[in-house]
Parts: sequence; structure tokens; C-alpha cells
Amino acid sequence: MGILLGCIADDFTGATDLCNTLVKEGMRTVQLIGVPGPGLPVPEADAVTIALKSRTAPVADAVDESLEALRWLQSAGATQILFKYCSTFDSTPDGNIGPVADALMEALGAGIAVVCPAFPETGRTIYLGHLFVGAKLLSDTHMRHHPLTPMTDSDLVRVMGAQSKRPVGLVPFAAVDQGAGAIAERFAELEAAGIAYAVTDAVADRHLRHLGEAMADHKLITGGSGIALGLPENFRRRGRLGQHDAAALPAVDGFEAVLAGSCSTATLEQIDRMADRNPALKLDPFALADGYAAELAIDWAKEHLANGPVLIYASAPADDVAEAQKVLGRERAGSLIEDAMAAIARGLVEAGVRRLVVAGGETSGAVVKALGIEGLAIGPQIDPGVPACTSLGKTPLALALKSGNFGGPDFLTRAFAHMPGERRRP
Ligand code: ADP
Repeated sequence: MGILLGCIADDFTGATDLCNTLVKEGMRTVQLIGVPGPGLPVPEADAVTIALKSRTAPVADAVDESLEALRWLQSAGATQILFKYCSTFDSTPDGNIGPVADALMEALGAGIAVVCPAFPETGRTIYLGHLFVGAKLLSDTHMRHHPLTPMTDSDLVRVMGAQSKRPVGLVPFAAVDQGAGAIAERFAELEAAGIAYAVTDAVADRHLRHLGEAMADHKLITGGSGIALGLPENFRRRGRLGQHDAAALPAVDGFEAVLAGSCSTATLEQIDRMADRNPALKLDPFALADGYAAELAIDWAKEHLANGPVLIYASAPADDVAEAQKVLGRERAGSLIEDAMAAIARGLVEAGVRRLVVAGGETSGAVVKALGIEGLAIGPQIDPGVPACTSLGKTPLALALKSGNFGGPDFLTRAFAHMPGERRRP
């Protein structure tokens, strides 16, 4: 049987967040890293999310990659497509949200598509078309000064209007709060008036569930990961989604390791907790610049794997990071460490590590690439936004990939308990 829901995400950690929501709502979900080649064995799933790196790519590339992802998802049987972007609508007047949505609408022959980045659980709400982050309008937050996608306008009808070739309208709070019937009526009015995009208000999860129900027959949906909340129920109601343990993963046994490159406050505390009880090695960017080779860290790890999980980290407090960036340059400091983490990840897997936790969005990206991972089966949530997962392919790895600020203080040690399988012992 084919998949039900096909998702196209404009970045990697956002894709994982979306998959996490779908699994929690009962859909067996696979995340693919880019459009897969023909050889990748994709396990049976109810939903597939293709993670692209299209958020800040040139517009034409973002459109082409999204259309290629669409074709793959359609060939896998998807009957509904979700285009996932950031809950802060990260984009510029050139795109990429508008042009990608336009291209998907045209390819799908969709009549109307929702635009809803709301994610109330993380404080992203929409009222009268205006996007709030906590108690502030989006344009009054740090997003105003984002280096790549500065958000200086919180009015999503206007922002989407500037990016898209098609007309944009609003489904206001008064309709959304009444439930699916009132929302569907408003969709019909907008569509009859020639409106292609419906920015929808949502300030609580129940609004997203109402919306989900009202969108049951929409060919294209666009939004943050919150917009997925009400979709699985549509398939269940129609008898298309079976009862499965959606979070079930195959067991993976092997040595355990943590690689941390995030310097966020949350990760620094998690490292402190873990280093108290486990073998830990800190990588120094200056030593890497002076020729300290990743092989030395791999040799160190091999001595300690039997007493693992081992921790290898570059993470440092803000002052140390600033010093490294001043002396080595911001990019060079980052890439020295990311390259080292990539080489260490490969060495660890060669040494028998099969259970791996990575802290840091960019760090995770570097590790996943170095290990040649093309896809992940998504499992149970470890902490909000971070699921345990298993890589697809010949040598499965149990993984947890977290962006820096996620996870409670004991995340790094607790994570392994959520991964089916066992630590290899001496
Ligand atoms: P987050 O998810 O917290 O943003 P990332 O992995 O995306 O974490 O980004 C952290 C960046 O900081 C990476 O490029 C990493 O290589 C770099 N980094 C890690 N440790 C140091 C350090 N001690 N000095 C300078 N840069 C560092």
C-alpha cells in the first residue's frame, strides 16, 4: 500500500519536528534526506517527509527541488501534500515560501491552500493574520535582525502576498474558533472569490485540529509542524490509517557515543551532567587548527567504548567561542569542528558504535552527511521536538539528532533508553 501523506520540508531539523508530530498522532513516518535515489529501501510508512535545504537556497533551486520531491511523493502514493516551513515563516520578499507554494499548487491543480505557521506549543500563534512569538509580534523579535531571513512584517497576508503570484485571503479567529464547519464555509467563500491562499488564525492546538478536519480534501497544505496535528485523524476517520504502534523501531545493538557541537545553554548543561559520570573528551578548536587529528579522538574513544557511552564535545561557553572565532575566524572555527566531528563519527561507526546522539543542528547535518545517511525511520519522542530514530540502509544506526536548545538537562544520557536495542558490553 502507498503512503497517505507526503511532506516537503525546507530544512532538516524542521522535518524531524514534523515527523515527531505525525508519529505522536499515530502515523508511521519516515524522513528522507533529500529526494532518494532508486536503491534506498524505504520501509512501509503512512507518511514520508523529504527534508530539503531549500529555505535560503536560490528561488529557482528551491522550486526545482520541491517539485522533484513532489513527484517522488506522488509516485509513492501520497494523496495529500504538506509543505512545511518554519513557524516564524523564515523567508524574504523573493521567497522561498511563496514561489515554492505557487509551483506546488500549479503542479497539483489545487484550488486553495492554507498558510499557517502557528505552533502554539512553542508560542507561535496567529491572530487576524498576524504572527506572534510569545507575547510579541514576529517583527518585534530577534527575527527582525535574522542574517538571512529578516522578518520585518508580521502580517502574513501581506508577507505571503509579496512572495506569491496568487491572491491571499484570511480565515479569521471568529471562524476558526467555531470549528471545522465554519472554517470550510470560509474556505469555499475565499475560493469562489478567486483567492488561492488562506492565511488562517490559530492560537491553540484545538484550532489546528479544527483546521485539520476542514482541510481533509485539500490537495496542498502549507504550514509549520503544528498544522500536521489534525491531519492523521482525517485518514483514520476514513478507515485509511490502520492501528499501528507508529513509534516502533527495530532494535539496534552496539557501542554508544555522544557527539556535541552545539554551544547552546541547554547543551552545555547536558554535557556537564554527562561528563560527571561518563568518559568525556573535549575538542579544542585551537588544537584542531594546529593539526590535532580526529584519529587521536577516535583512538581515545576506542579505549573507552566498553565503558560508554562516551562523550566527545567541542561545545564551549560564549566567551571561549568568541575567542576562537576572533582568532580563527567564525567560519573556520565552525568548519574545523564540523569536519572533525564528521571524521570522528565515521571512525566511531567503524569501531562498532551503532547508537549515537548528536547535539547541534549544523553538527547533526555534518555527521549525517559523513555517515552517508539517506533516511530515518522516526520513533518515540525523547523530549519535545526530538524523537529517537533509526537510519535506513545496510548498517542501521540508532540515532537522536537534536538542535542545540532542545532537551532537558539529562537528555544526553536519557536518550539511549528511548532507543530500542542494547549497549554492547565488554
Ligand atoms: P545549534 O543547534 O546549537 O545551533 P550547531 O551545531 O547548529 O548548534 O552550531 C554550532 C556551531 O558552533 C557549529 O558550527 C560548531 O562547529 C561550532 N562550535 C562548536 N564548538 C565551538 C567552539 N568551541 N568554538 C567555536 N565554534 C564552535
